[in-house]
Amino acid sequence: MEELGICPVCHEDSAFIETEGGWCVYVQCGHCGTHTAFTSYKNEEEKKEAELAVTRLWNMGKVIAESRGE
Ligand SMILES: [Zn+2]
Repeated sequence: MEELGICPVCHEDSAFIETEGGWCVYVQCGHCGTHTAFTSYKNEEEKKEAELAVTRLWNMGKVIAESRGE
């Protein structure tokens, strides 16, 4: 299992894997709301692969910054 690195946007160590509605996962920063793309899955096996995929996206810095309006 790969570990989640720090947030590439705010550099806080508060990332976690979120499961959305039982069909997709993504990584989100609990500090600034930056997140990865959603990756869908159909069963438990695919869920593990999806979690690994979003972990890698996060660690590569392929994230979507949450714009909070200015
Ligand atoms: Zn952050």
